[in-house]
Amino acid sequence: MIKIGVLGLQGAVREHIDSIQASGAEGIIIKKKEQLEEIDGLILPGGESTTMRRLIDKYDFFDALVAFGKQGKPIFGTCAGLILLAGEVVGQEKAHLQLMDMKVERNAFGRQKESFEAELPITGVADDFNAVFIRAPFIREAGEDVEVLAVYNEAIVAARQGHFLCSAFHPELTDDHRMTAYFVTMVEESMKELAS
Ligand code: GLN
Repeated sequence: MIKIGVLGLQGAVREHIDSIQASGAEGIIIKKKEQLEEIDGLILPGGESTTMRRLIDKYDFFDALVAFGKQGKPIFGTCAGLILLAGEVVGQEKAHLQLMDMKVERNAFGRQKESFEAELPITGVADDFNAVFIRAPFIREAGEDVEVLAVYNEAIVAARQGHFLCSAFHPELTDDHRMTAYFVTMVEESMKELAS
């Protein structure tokens, strides 16, 4: 069975595990960098990106996460996880993992919209996905290799660049597992490619 890890330092971990299992793969909570060797794909969950970064450094995960991505293994960043993947973060001198060619803005929907839901079409995933946004970022600029998958009020809220996927919303918080299932398919494809 395909094994998908969820970085378990902080944030919405359990819900992702449940969504992975519901999509027919095995979900594993990752608490030590050595565990990255056991998995075929990784989800960076929502939470708080600055806190998560602090814990990534504290537990010596940084280089291992970058290497995991550079090896061609798929990573799906949701919300704070999207911020971790970005090459640039507005107002921050240095971004985090810098695996995706995009500039993101944190808490980009403003205070009056701390959390909300919207039904969105997502390319390759669904025409009517109920997306849950919580203090969500959005993608301000996407590089030319980045495929935009979903837009809400002109803001890019889901994108893919090769084996990297991200969403500004939380796909794990409802019973609709189609976005996670899309990532599981990406992992399946990458395993075939990495084996050939
Ligand atoms: N606002 C958070 C951050 O900047 C992200 C919110 C979330 O993951 N739900 O990291």
